[in-house]
Amino acid sequence: MTLLLDNHLGGRWQTGSGAGTPLFDPVLGTELVRISSAGLDLAEGFDYARQRGGAALRALTYGERAALLARIAETLQGQRDAYFDIALQNSGTTRNDSAVDIDGAIFTLGQYARWGAKLGDARWLADGAAARLGKDGSFQSGHVLTSQRGLVLCINAFNFPAWGLWEKAAPALLSGVPVVVKPASATAWLTQRMIADVVAAGVLPDGALSVVCGSSDGLLDALQPFDLLSFTGSADTARAIREHAAVLRHGVRMNSETDSLNSALLGPDATPGSDAFASAVREVVREMTIKSGQKCTAIRRVLVPQEQAREAADAIASALAGVKVGNPRNESVRMGSLASRAQANAVREGIGALAGEAKRVYAGDETALVDADASVGAFAMPHLFAVDEAEASSLVHDIEVFGPVATVVPYRDAAHAFALARRGAGSLVASVFTADEDFAERAAIEIGHAHGRVHVVTPEVAKTHTGHGNVMPMSLHGGPGRAGGGEELGGLRALAFYHQRSAVQGPQSLVESILRKAAAFPDA
Ligand code: NAP
Repeated sequence: MTLLLDNHLGGRWQTGSGAGTPLFDPVLGTELVRISSAGLDLAEGFDYARQRGGAALRALTYGERAALLARIAETLQGQRDAYFDIALQNSGTTRNDSAVDIDGAIFTLGQYARWGAKLGDARWLADGAAARLGKDGSFQSGHVLTSQRGLVLCINAFNFPAWGLWEKAAPALLSGVPVVVKPASATAWLTQRMIADVVAAGVLPDGALSVVCGSSDGLLDALQPFDLLSFTGSADTARAIREHAAVLRHGVRMNSETDSLNSALLGPDATPGSDAFASAVREVVREMTIKSGQKCTAIRRVLVPQEQAREAADAIASALAGVKVGNPRNESVRMGSLASRAQANAVREGIGALAGEAKRVYAGDETALVDADASVGAFAMPHLFAVDEAEASSLVHDIEVFGPVATVVPYRDAAHAFALARRGAGSLVASVFTADEDFAERAAIEIGHAHGRVHVVTPEVAKTHTGHGNVMPMSLHGGPGRAGGGEELGGLRALAFYHQRSAVQGPQSLVESILRKAAAFPDA
């Protein structure tokens, strides 16, 4: 039997009961470790986090908590090789793709450590200046943000076991809120190992960081008033969680990051041969293949002026033909497997559905897999689809195929392009490729309401931009509507979720004193 991973809850390591659920190598099909949360006393563990972890964190200033984040980053940096090894075994990703998750996590922690240090000795945040309520100014109002007194339950998706943990935990811990993380089962190993390393290094106070690996049964029942819930995963699961009795009863504040039909929009000037066209093709191929397209921010729809649609599809297809797919242990491989057989089946189903409504422009050849067996590994080959008319298919605008799959969609004019971008019904990100800044500005404002982020690539920034799908801690991550309606990151803006904003009304001297002792939010 393989190793049964322990859970860290109630300030101690605990073994779940039963044989547990096995985790697999999605390339080789071998069993790696097992997880179980059965039999854990979740209510006791959650209480410990709230009482012990919360109190200890809140006793520190922002600056002191920021120093803890820096030590976590240092601890993780020291074990980086082990994390790449786990990702290689359990996620089927190439080293470059694992880096997006692992180095992305460490980078994000480092950023919050730096931003947090600027908050210094403060223990609460001020939102704006005092306002006069009475005529003579003696009675005033000020807005403060104070740390939430519950815990945050972070329920994460399988595709980012490292970054998904720390992009949530960093702002939570900096805010003084203890974290309980439940990683997605398929890839829970990396999350568990990172937490084990941080616990072993003794960086955080007891109860500040807990991990429960395995079934989600009973987790939501253990929530109490003032607890927070930060979810990343599918829209269906988000809906079920939002409607859970304990979440409704206690009015649990929930942040939800779900699926998204992100688009890349080639401006009218992005004609073949232009820099904007070349940038767009490069980015679409990158987005389709990084982590085998298993990124919530990946480009799913490529919106192209109708005159250019065929050439764009051909250019993307010919670049995809150069992508070697297979066992990430082989250095020539650029794209590895999906995370599990279940994901491979779901992607295959999605490709089948899209094929019913769209033309298949490119389909990777499964027989060309490098050092891998398609009947054993969880592989999905890159697929590019196209439609002759944007409205000819509704599925293209409706289903998120969570793999290396995208569709080229032609548009008639700018208004049509913006309307198509909005057909995602709320997306995480849209990118715009153009040399025309007026067009880019119009796009950013026209589609902003339906997106969490608009990423503009002009020839000037073709080499320096950070990537359509790359979530940088300085920028907001999240999107309205279908994307979940959540907001994460965006610098210190992320702290808002973990604080309560309240107005203090009283004598001018009191309000001024409270605001004077606060750190300014969101700019430190
Ligand atoms: P999922 O099936 O919805 O699972 C997400 C998490 O919820 C997992 O930890 C899962 O645990 C847990 N879960 C499932 N049912 C639950 C329940 N009834 N109560 C509490 N927790 C429950 O999603 P996934 O397949 O892991 O992830 C893929 C999806 O996530 C894609 O749609 C992708 O777009 C989205 N995603 C979004 C973002 C974003 O930032 N917007 C980022 C990454 C991924 P188990 O694994 O144990 O079932």
